This record gives sequence, C-alpha cells and structure tokens, in this order.
Amino acid sequence: MDTPPASIPPTPGVAGTPMALGIRGRCPRCGQGHLFAGYLRLADRCDQCGLDLSFADPADGPAFFVMSIVSIPLVAFAAWLEIAHQAPLWVHLLTTLPLAVLSVLALLRPLKGWLVCAQYINKAAQGRLQDDEAE
Ligand SMILES: [Zn+2]
Repeated sequence: MDTPPASIPPTPGVAGTPMALGIRGRCPRCGQGHLFAGYLRLADRCDQCGLDLSFADPADGPAFFVMSIVSIPLVAFAAWLEIAHQAPLWVHLLTTLPLAVLSVLALLRPLKGWLVCAQYINKAAQGRLQDDEAE
C-alpha cells in the first residue's frame, strides 16, 4: 500500500468502523474520499487522500453475503404468496422478481464497500509463510 501525502495523515480507526465507512462508500484511510467510481466499480484512487485502491479485492464476498441475507426472506415471501393466495405466475413476476432485484441492488454496494474497508483497516492480504519485509 502506498504512503499518504504529508498533508493528510493516515487516520485508521478515526474516521469510523469498516461497516460505517463502507456503507457510506467512503475511503477507509481518510473517511472523506469516495470509494466507488460507479455503482459497483471501485475508483482507482481516493479523490481526497490518493489512496491506491488496487489492493481491494472483495471477489464474490459481497454477492455471497447478499444472497445469504436476501434469499431466506424472499423465498419466505414467495412461499407465503403462493400458499396464502395461490398467486399466478404473473403476480410473482410483478412482486417477487422486483423485490429480489431491488433488495440485491440495495445491499450489494454497501456490502462491497464494507468488505473493501475491512480489508484495508484489518490489513487483510494473501497469506505468506514468511514476512518478506522482515528479511
Ligand atoms: Zn482517502
């Protein structure tokens, strides 16, 4: 990871928790800059402190958490709709499908931000047998 410019000191832990920073889409180092350049695309660098965000690799973590959070209530809703009202397929297409899409879209970005901020603040990286810097 790169070092911060002299005018902006590193402030891990001062700006907020990984969850608070990630949900707001803020930089994990300064808490001010934007984490995202698009809806889900990460910025190359923080626009405030210049933190290189190339370290960020949440992979499919956000999708896993979103699926885990959304699937049970959504299936319960669809089952309730089917059992209680014997809803035809078009009703499911107008209720269950939009509910699934909207809930996934609502959760994916904050969870991705959370995982990226947690990765930076907790210094998560690939495991190594020896610390290369100690040699
Ligand atoms: Zn920053």
